Amino acid sequence: MRDFAYARAGTAESAVGTLADPGTSVIAGGTELLNWFRLGIAAADNVVDIGGLHELRGIASDGDDLRIGALATLNEIGEHPLVTQAAGALASACLQAASAQIRNRATIGGNVLQRTRCPYFRAEEPLPWPCNKRDPGSGCTSLAGRHERQAIFGWTQDCVAVQPSDPAVALAMLDAQADVLGPAGPRTIPMREFHLTQREAADAGQPMRETRLEPGELITGYRLPASADGQAYVKVRERASYEYAIVSAAAAVRLDPVLPGACGAGRIAAARVALGSVAQRPWRLTLAEAELPGTPLTREALIPVIERAMADAAPLPQNGFKVTMARNAAVRALLAAGGAS
Ligand SMILES: Cc1cc2nc3c(=O)[nH]c(=O)nc-3n(C[C@H](O)[C@H](O)[C@H](O)COP(=O)(O)OP(=O)(O)OC[C@H]3O[C@@H](n4cnc5c(N)ncnc54)[C@H](O)[C@@H]3O)c2cc1C
Repeated sequence: MRDFAYARAGTAESAVGTLADPGTSVIAGGTELLNWFRLGIAAADNVVDIGGLHELRGIASDGDDLRIGALATLNEIGEHPLVTQAAGALASACLQAASAQIRNRATIGGNVLQRTRCPYFRAEEPLPWPCNKRDPGSGCTSLAGRHERQAIFGWTQDCVAVQPSDPAVALAMLDAQADVLGPAGPRTIPMREFHLTQREAADAGQPMRETRLEPGELITGYRLPASADGQAYVKVRERASYEYAIVSAAAAVRLDPVLPGACGAGRIAAARVALGSVAQRPWRLTLAEAELPGTPLTREALIPVIERAMADAAPLPQNGFKVTMARNAAVRALLAAGGAS
């Protein structure tokens, strides 16, 4: 690990100013960045701590929106009554991430910028194998090696990694916007477009780019349209805590009002659903969202709708099981969001 200079930012603007130097990195909770330094994934000469910036803190209602500061920790978000009422899928995703200790430190600003858990990428330097993310042009060892946890959508021959964030899946499903401050001033990025698949990045001529955040930009917070729809986040993992998702799904469901005396399952009036850990970005099932209104909220009715929406999945030789697992997670999330489980 290389030595670096450490300073505390006084304002968000001054933090952005320091980022003009490519050798400078901001640090929030430090749960990702310091691991990158230790492994040799990243290095910086200067580290600017944004953790004391009051303007990036807080969770509050802002008209019809919910505003969450970038420095809000995963535990603060998961337990805040405004979030549990208006964005239950996000609260649940935050509380299912990492461990209690890490959630007390990990911020939502840093969370969406965490990088893949691909073991070939996360190896300590000197890197014993090719990895295009670590050494562009060297190749992707996972493609010919182990890839059971990797992408089933949007991957290329250059990289098959997935974005592992839980909260990002809920933010994308809830149509949240990231508020960003950069050298050119403030702007917003829709969270469903924040991350890039390898295919999208390659098409844009930057095959290893992972997000639409520009160098030198700071996330100041997120805005979510408050929603009265039922919500759920389903995370499938190898053990019940302190484990990344194999797949996950976030859903919001509004049911048609049930007529007095009617029996049987309710029908969906509107639904949103996104998958996690299946691509390098949260994967909204937009075809399903268009088809779901009018569908009974039953497992039997939901399965074919989700299967049609996932028909373009392109699993790798070792991860075909993720297609079925993701389908089932989406169905479970929709049922739970609609109150049917
Ligand atoms: C053991 C372990 C288990 C975990 N399990 C899960 C899990 O199950 N699910 C899950 O979703 N996550 C999980 N995480 C990831 C964890 O949630 C993230 O590490 C954390 O949220 C990152 O936030 P941070 O504040 O610590 O970021 P930092 O480490 O401070 O920063 C990470 C990156 O983001 C940048 N950054 C930070 N804040 C901003 C900002 N406001 N604007 C612009 N750039 C910024 C930094 O410069 C750096 O590049 C796990 C982490 C660990 C260590």
